[in-house]
Amino acid sequence: MINFKLSLFSTLAVRFWFRLFLDFILGLLVSLFIFKTFTLVVPVFGFHGIFDTETPLSEIRVYDYSKQQLKAFLENLVQDNYWFLSTQEVYDYFLSQDKKVIPPEHKKEKPIVISFDDGYKNAHDHLMEILPELEKRYNKKVKIVFFINPGFMGKEGTYHNHASCQDLREGFTQGYYDLQSHGQNHENLTKISLTKVDSELSRAQKDLKACLENLDTKGEVGNHFAYPYGAANKEVEKLTAKYYQSSYLYNSRILRPFTIKDLYRVSRLTVNRKTSLQMLQLKAGGNWF
Ligand SMILES: [Zn+2]
Repeated sequence: MINFKLSLFSTLAVRFWFRLFLDFILGLLVSLFIFKTFTLVVPVFGFHGIFDTETPLSEIRVYDYSKQQLKAFLENLVQDNYWFLSTQEVYDYFLSQDKKVIPPEHKKEKPIVISFDDGYKNAHDHLMEILPELEKRYNKKVKIVFFINPGFMGKEGTYHNHASCQDLREGFTQGYYDLQSHGQNHENLTKISLTKVDSELSRAQKDLKACLENLDTKGEVGNHFAYPYGAANKEVEKLTAKYYQSSYLYNSRILRPFTIKDLYRVSRLTVNRKTSLQMLQLKAGGNWF
């Protein structure tokens, strides 16, 4: 009788523990699924000028980045199956209320955005070396977002000279550039009148579209914005929404589409000359806030 009770008890105990174990595994799988679904990240990097080993130290600015490290970074991303998004793709697949379904060819890729502000000539020249080389080697086109100040196109700058409209047309024709707006004259939009803000926003869009006229058959140029100096406030955001579908900040955060509430405050990560290649890769992997 005692033995019978013991064996009954042990059978019940085994069942209990087995059921607990199954519940634990199921809970773990559900948590993992929720975690994976809701923490999708789209790291958006913001570069400026690009220098190489021959550039004199006096000409290198804090927000510049080395050509050699940039090339290594992009090459690693290509090898690691990243999807280089345009701003329109970020909007369509991750930000819009009416999101499009991600095409099958991109489903297994990791999304990332590589952007360049201010449209510097040295960035254009080096990218036009790096990008065709990567395409030839890996048969993959790396898309670069350029946030442009049309008022400076082809002009000398305080720090670096600016790429011309013809330069931008070249990169666009070859399928490497996504050309978007950074304001007409790189004004801090929080420090000028709202009338001037409106003019900075509208003129930049008009001039950028005019530069790409007859090439931009899909109307993809100048629909998205990056605030000069990353500076914005509620009034600036409201005016930006009059002309653009989305706008990017600099807040050192990785874009988590699930948590975004404001299309005019899209997160971006700054890159400067001291950012190591390892740090870029860590951030590209989403291991950063
Ligand atoms: Zn800028």
